[in-house]
Amino acid sequence: MRILVTGGAGFIGSHLIDRLMNEGHEIICLDNFYTGHKRNILKWLGHPYFELIRHDITEPIRLEVDQIYHLACPASPVHYQYNPVKTVKTNVMGTLNMLGLAKRVKARFFLASTSEVYGDPEIHPQTEEYRGSVNPIGIRSCYDEGKRIAETLAFDYYRQNKVDIRVARIFNTYGPRMLENDGRVVSNFIVQALRGTPLTVYGDGSQTRSFCYVSDLVEGFIRLMNGDYVGPVNLGNPGEYTILQLAQAVQNMINPDAQIKFEPLPSDDPRRRQPDITKAKTWLNWEPTIPLQEGLKLTIEDFRDRMNSDTKNSAS
Ligand code: NAD
Ligand code: UDP
Ligand code: UDP
Repeated sequence: MRILVTGGAGFIGSHLIDRLMNEGHEIICLDNFYTGHKRNILKWLGHPYFELIRHDITEPIRLEVDQIYHLACPASPVHYQYNPVKTVKTNVMGTLNMLGLAKRVKARFFLASTSEVYGDPEIHPQTEEYRGSVNPIGIRSCYDEGKRIAETLAFDYYRQNKVDIRVARIFNTYGPRMLENDGRVVSNFIVQALRGTPLTVYGDGSQTRSFCYVSDLVEGFIRLMNGDYVGPVNLGNPGEYTILQLAQAVQNMINPDAQIKFEPLPSDDPRRRQPDITKAKTWLNWEPTIPLQEGLKLTIEDFRDRMNSDTKNSAS
């Protein structure tokens, strides 16, 4: 199949591309390199089945493809809040363009939505029926409301234009290739512990998240895309941890002497988050297989390698 991956040079997109290339598909990777990097897809450059297009999805584009995985959108609060109007444009105009493309070429369309559509949830764990508690005017809303309208657009193209959609609500995902300056909690703690600087816990660290390793997530993507279930479906690891527990786990694995320092909690930071994955289990026969300790180990190794080679390069 010929498959378009928007945001393919980013963290999750590049892992998805590795998987699809290894399955023998022809891949078009579309990215504006806002948070993505060429090095994430370097090994495929020059491959006859791989094409890289530098393009901003807020502008229309005409391509001929069979499937579209639509991931383009910065995912870390630091990056999506840097230019919030652009984040809204990417989610609204970008998703509209990709749905228009899917409609024209009759491609199946996969939307990478997010657990953020639940906002600061009043029910726990979150099921897909829950409609969420999102602040429409806060600093996170460019992303949260952006993704909510992206879901709305997907379902309207489905009802109105018979576009064949699949919608995944992704919970916090981590793994190799996250940027050192990504700003999300797992990469921050690992980089801080490796550099010997204090781990920055926001608030008192009692807020919770559930962390899914990236290869488990990609398996969920493939199953959803190629099955009959439209969604929305939660994809995430139900193992729930406080942020302080995560800091202590990283501390124990890298540097037990690392300090923890407490910083102010950003506004609208969700207090807890845990996916109910009954639907993914039932419809996709999917559940995560990599426990946090194991996934952290693999992620720490990747950061260590990259940081060592950066040091070598700057010394030479
Ligand atoms: P990422 O920032 O590493 O990747 C996003 C990619 O999209 C980058 O390569 C970036 O350059 C590209 N991009 C951004 N705006 C673009 C635009 N206007 N035009 C073209 N390309 C653009 O983030 P990620 O963690 O890989 O997330 C991928 C997707 O998954 C996002 O849609 C995100 O909202 C969703 N998601 C991720 C998580 C997570 O925990 N990682 C959780 C929920 C949802
Ligand atoms: N679009 C695109 N590539 C295509 C087809 C459409 O980028 O191959 C864009 C198109 O420019 C429009 C959006 O997708 O901005 C929605 O397209 P649709 O055909 O649904 O609506 P219309 O063009 O009638 O507004
Ligand atoms: N967080 C933290 N220290 C950091 C980065 C994040 O304590 O250096 C907290 C953040 O306040 C939030 C949680 O960790 O409560 C997850 O943050 P992240 O940005 O990774 O994802 P999201 O808030 O979008 O789930």
